[in-house]
Amino acid sequence: MADFDYICIGGGSGGIASTNRAAMHGQKVALIEGRHIGGTCVNVGCVPKKAMWYGAQVAEAIHRYAPDYGFDLTVNKFDWKTLVKNRQAYIERIHGSYDRVLGNNKITVINGYGKLVDKNTVEVGGKQFTADHILIATGGRPWRPEIPGAELGIDSDGFFELDHLPKSAAVIGAGYIAVELAGVLHALGSDTHLAVRKHAPLRNFDSMLSDTLMELMAEDGPAVHTHSIPQSVERINNGMLKLTFTNGQSLEVEQVIWAVGRVPATDNLGLENAGVEVNAKGHIIVDEYQNTTAANVYAVGDNIGKVDLTPVAVKAGRTLSERLFNGKTDAKMDYNTIPTVVFSHPPIGTIGLSEEEAKEQYGEQSVKVYNSSFAAMYTAVTRNRQQTKMKLVCVGPDEKVVGLHGIGFAMDEILQGFGVAIKMGATKADFDACVAIHPTSGEEYVTMR
Ligand code: FAD
Ligand code: NDP
Repeated sequence: MADFDYICIGGGSGGIASTNRAAMHGQKVALIEGRHIGGTCVNVGCVPKKAMWYGAQVAEAIHRYAPDYGFDLTVNKFDWKTLVKNRQAYIERIHGSYDRVLGNNKITVINGYGKLVDKNTVEVGGKQFTADHILIATGGRPWRPEIPGAELGIDSDGFFELDHLPKSAAVIGAGYIAVELAGVLHALGSDTHLAVRKHAPLRNFDSMLSDTLMELMAEDGPAVHTHSIPQSVERINNGMLKLTFTNGQSLEVEQVIWAVGRVPATDNLGLENAGVEVNAKGHIIVDEYQNTTAANVYAVGDNIGKVDLTPVAVKAGRTLSERLFNGKTDAKMDYNTIPTVVFSHPPIGTIGLSEEEAKEQYGEQSVKVYNSSFAAMYTAVTRNRQQTKMKLVCVGPDEKVVGLHGIGFAMDEILQGFGVAIKMGATKADFDACVAIHPTSGEEYVTMR
């Protein structure tokens, strides 16, 4: 008889969600974690990032908006250490809450790195544990290019270890992490540069979003360096880092921050011992039910390379446990129309297809696009008016909404409800049938002409 019904390697978003659900259905469960419970999201991802973003929001409120709301403020200093201390205390409380829930569900937590011995056995620190079912939820880690001096820079993990606000920083990359970290550093007062290797950050998003982000960053944001491919990093005499690009330009900054993507944590896992196959990028190959190529071995989360978001890992992990341990034999994760937010300044929200993708998929004639552009009211009563832009992408004669995009104040909080509507298959007429909430930014989505 196996030691456990279910063992999960990796105690991050997907692993915790799946094991808790399995235990609630009466399974004997073990969770193996090599670092900190909570994984990337809680320790070096969503949670500390959002705390820093909120800090940046406070800074913007003080400097950009408070004076025109009548506040005569004298700010003596910003103390990075205080923000970091309170952020970490919050994370400790989350750890406590996870420990309590795992304990209540009688899950055995094993500290250490797990390695598959075969498809039913995992080894941790020289001890072997067997299970009928094994989940691999090991997530990923930051990657950096192999150029001279790359090691002198830090990555997003290193960003969360900084003990002071760098006086200047160059963030390299064009995805979520680059945009978010550069925005936070700029708002908190660091002289920040964002270096992208093509024409804009967030190139894969609807072009309205990346174009507007570029415009807004030009007004107030990090200095964006386009077509800038890093060639080398070196420490120069004054202690600063010199970052040189292949186009001959260079920057001298206190910190270089790599945000050029992540790789799956699938090496050193003994996958070959169990017959679990990976693709060329190292992502675990799974079918639509999260089954790997080995029987009774499953994978969810960032290590499968589908959609790298916490709620996706959580939902995939829970759905898997419902299928395996609660008789829902056909339950599977739906990876379509997932709402997502980039915590830029202002935030970006997006669901479903971009205008470009919709036209490619359905043909130009079938797609109707509605746009709206206005100054967010929060900013409109101040000198620092900030644009909000919104877009609905509709297809077919019934104008089914297949894409919803926006950049502007509060977009992060506007998005979730529209995610439900789009998941339900809402049409433009359904949007129009909903009475607006006035005065808000969100009401624009139900009044577009
Ligand atoms: P993880 O959360 O990475 O967990 C994997 C765990 O497995 C880790 O704890 C690791 O230590 C452990 N592990 C690895 N190998 C082994 C082994 N051999 N043995 C034992 N343990 C092992 N997503 C959002 O939805 N919203 C956000 O705002 C957001 N912000 C982010 C900001 C940053 C800076 C980063 C880096 C990511 C962010 N993400 C965000 C993405 C999100 O963090 C990930 O999608 C999510 O954490 C993936 O969950 P997971 O369970 O697949 O992996
Ligand atoms: P991404 O893959 O999203 O973006 C990295 C980008 O960096 C690439 O798209 C590429 O853009 C650019 N790049 C790649 N290689 C190089 C290079 N050698 N030199 C310069 N630029 C390069 O990765 P991130 O690390 O930003 O984020 C990983 C994932 O984590 C995200 O995709 C997202 O799913 C998740 N996440 C979610 C967040 C949220 O929900 N708010 C926040 C943070 C992360 P290009 O091709 O245009 O140059």
